[in-house]
Amino acid sequence: MKIFNFLKHWILWLFILSPIILKAQTNKVQLERIEPMFWFTGMKQPKLQLLVHGANIASTTVLLIYPGVKLVKVNKVDNPNYLFLDVEISSTAKAGKFPIEFNQNGKKLIYTYELKQKDKSLNLHQGVDNSDLIYLIMPDRFSNGDKHNDVIEGMQEMALNRDSMYYRHGGDIQGIINHLDYLKDLGITTLWLNPVLENDQPKTSYHGYANTENYKIDRRFGTNEDYKKLVIESHKRGMKVIKDLVHNHIGTEHFTIKDMPMKDWVNQWPKFTKTTYREQVHMDPYVAKADKELMENGWFDKHMPDMNHHNSYVKNYITQSHIWWVEYAGLDGFRLDTYAYNDQKYMAEWAKEITAEYPKITFFGETWVHGVPNQAYFTTGNKINQGFDTKLQGVTDFQALWGINEALNGKFGWMDGVVKLYNTFANDFLYEDPTRNVVFLDNHDLSRFYSVVGEDFNKYKSGLAWLLTTRGIPQLYYGTEILMKNFASPDGLVRSDFPGGWEEDKKNKFTAQGRTNKENEAFNYLKTIANYRKNNPVLQTGKMMQFIPEDGIYVYFRYNNTKTVMVIMNSNTTEKSISTDRYQERILTAKSGLDIVSNQLLVLKTIIIPAQTTLIFELK
Ligand code: CA
Repeated sequence: MKIFNFLKHWILWLFILSPIILKAQTNKVQLERIEPMFWFTGMKQPKLQLLVHGANIASTTVLLIYPGVKLVKVNKVDNPNYLFLDVEISSTAKAGKFPIEFNQNGKKLIYTYELKQKDKSLNLHQGVDNSDLIYLIMPDRFSNGDKHNDVIEGMQEMALNRDSMYYRHGGDIQGIINHLDYLKDLGITTLWLNPVLENDQPKTSYHGYANTENYKIDRRFGTNEDYKKLVIESHKRGMKVIKDLVHNHIGTEHFTIKDMPMKDWVNQWPKFTKTTYREQVHMDPYVAKADKELMENGWFDKHMPDMNHHNSYVKNYITQSHIWWVEYAGLDGFRLDTYAYNDQKYMAEWAKEITAEYPKITFFGETWVHGVPNQAYFTTGNKINQGFDTKLQGVTDFQALWGINEALNGKFGWMDGVVKLYNTFANDFLYEDPTRNVVFLDNHDLSRFYSVVGEDFNKYKSGLAWLLTTRGIPQLYYGTEILMKNFASPDGLVRSDFPGGWEEDKKNKFTAQGRTNKENEAFNYLKTIANYRKNNPVLQTGKMMQFIPEDGIYVYFRYNNTKTVMVIMNSNTTEKSISTDRYQERILTAKSGLDIVSNQLLVLKTIIIPAQTTLIFELK
């Protein structure tokens, strides 16, 4: 099977790269598509580049006449099946439809282009900040809200098989919309969906990271309108939506790969060449050029061709599609996949263009890297990267994740156990603003948190208490609130269906009745802290002060002008009693603390902390 795929892949390449085959094709002219398929009036950036695809379209002359819209340049490229039209849209251009004509020897092909009015009610572009709690959903595995889209005739992967982690399970956008109230009740304020663009790949297409369209939602998830509806319904509930963007690669079945506009549309190698997955090439002062090239230009996987970010057509194509989605659906932010694998200057330019159009929108990069310096290197205004400003506001804080895992599972020592967590934050001086980092306990690529702590309920609660009280923007992974478990080997195991998301499910864990007592305890524990956090700016924007851990006890505070919250984490396997004298510097005149979970008032003198427990007190 693997050999077959390998051969298929190379036969495809030969086809793409052979000019002889292209010449042998008929001279008949066709117009397949124009992207973006429509645009908007009132954009700050007047320039637009239209990708036109169709057999021999480059043999036509192009005519575009519409007030306020100017066809500046018609770009021909290697492949005669493409044209790139540079267009300028003035601020006076009115919404409306107009023809773009493609003429060849008196024959005419017409595309009716449209400039749409900006939908101001939809477009809040709020950005995600410290007041938010992000919930990550793998759309195929959350809930099946529409059975009619489970299998779509003509798409490559037709089979639905809920018993296999590699096949599609039928989850969709409607399923998410159906559970927005559940999420709101839990205290969620922001949704992050794994990519939902069309992924018409022959295998394991459910995860969405090898898109085959840039402007179309995968029909098995729903329509573009459904996606827009998800944003509208979320906004109605005071929730935001961020989109998962993959700059680095697309799927082998994407039309620009099956019929490439030009040889350097993607980074090509004499034979399949993988990236090295080594972020160090970006900051290593002794780096070998060959290593850097391999990391950036090697392919993430066989079915994921690596986009050439030095190609201006590629750059325009990708960036415009992102602006289009913000404008079309009213998005609030982005998560940027495989950040370290992209050309870094390209990413900075992308960020500049996005924020020029949408000053409030925010984005964070996936930095699955090693060590705080390497992670901070990718962020805007940091103290280490002297080369250029990345403009990247936040990163997925993998260092904090490894810190909390070691705090909960490791043994206390000079540099070990909970000290690792303390040290991670002591290194925050490397960032311009570490509070924009996204902190998390698990995600779609990682072992589920409940399994990582050995299904120890106290440790699980400790982790959640930390997640919702530390600095940064917390992110949950679907199902963590109901103790879903498994290790990510392979990763399909951590992407199982949310019980109750399918009509035929025996248990519905979206409801208290469907959950076990323990699951309800987990759900309610999380809900209590999440809602406290939502209503108390002190846990959002409050300053942080941490004390060096002693005897396996880690104490930190969040405080502002009106409130102080004290967090005590006991990483020991035994109960401990601590005197609060050492923390006087931040306790100040407070005499007691309200446990925000149990609602009990405690005198601040000697506090007993059960084994492997974290307590959260609002000081009074
Ligand atoms: Ca479905």
